[in-house]
Amino acid sequence: MPSTEIIAIGTELLLGEMQDTNTRYLARLLRNANIDLFRSTIIGDNTARISELIKDALSRSDIIITSGGLGPTVDDPTRLAVANALDRELVFIPQLWDQILERFERYGRPPTENNRRQAYIPAGAIPIENQVGTAPAFIVEIGEKCIISLPGVPRELEYLMENHVMSYLTRRYQLKGVIKVLVVHTAGIGESSVDEKVADLEVMSNPTLGLLAHPAQTDVRITAKAESEEEAQ
Ligand code: ATP
Ligand code: MG
Repeated sequence: MPSTEIIAIGTELLLGEMQDTNTRYLARLLRNANIDLFRSTIIGDNTARISELIKDALSRSDIIITSGGLGPTVDDPTRLAVANALDRELVFIPQLWDQILERFERYGRPPTENNRRQAYIPAGAIPIENQVGTAPAFIVEIGEKCIISLPGVPRELEYLMENHVMSYLTRRYQLKGVIKVLVVHTAGIGESSVDEKVADLEVMSNPTLGLLAHPAQTDVRITAKAESEEEAQ
């Protein structure tokens, strides 16, 4: 079972100006696909720091998904940060540039010179065409591991996950199995009392059982992983 890590890139996220909804979206999608997510980080638009983080992440996780920083401006650091982390060059991919030009033609406006930046990806990376925006995404395979770099615009990230990345991950890591979640709501009994009653179940590894307290209500969440729907049930 591959382990995954998310890196959300964007100074606006660190400054609290923008909420990191991409991580939440990715976390849920991965959970539903039975892919373990072990860590997520938010980092600013700083190439050197992002590079360091990617190196760290590669040393402990199999799949690294980055969000954001693929735009055309100099402060969009992701392409270079990934290339630097892997000691690879950025290379110009003519067919990516063609796709970007085509998109701009459809929008009825000319690309700027810095849009060319977006046609550069780390050497050996697999380009993913972005049919819903201009920033191409890419996957770099490093042995059994991979880095998947996606644009920050939620609609684009979601489109690429659902139409390209999930099928790639399923194929590459032969993912199978399902996760089923059942939430039992309790009322009129405090979290610590519920905890006392189910403490022996809370240490199990499959299914796992966790508590979530709300005002006047405690939810008991039971999560099972299995090869098939029936087994999970
Ligand atoms: P673009 O080509 O549109 O510039 P990009 O990959 O460079 O794409 P960013 O510039 O980092 O993406 O972000 C574009 C927009 O996407 C941001 O203005 C913000 O609205 C949104 N965004 C970025 N990261 C996140 C995130 N983690 N969660 C939610 N929204 C985000
Ligand atoms: Mg940005």
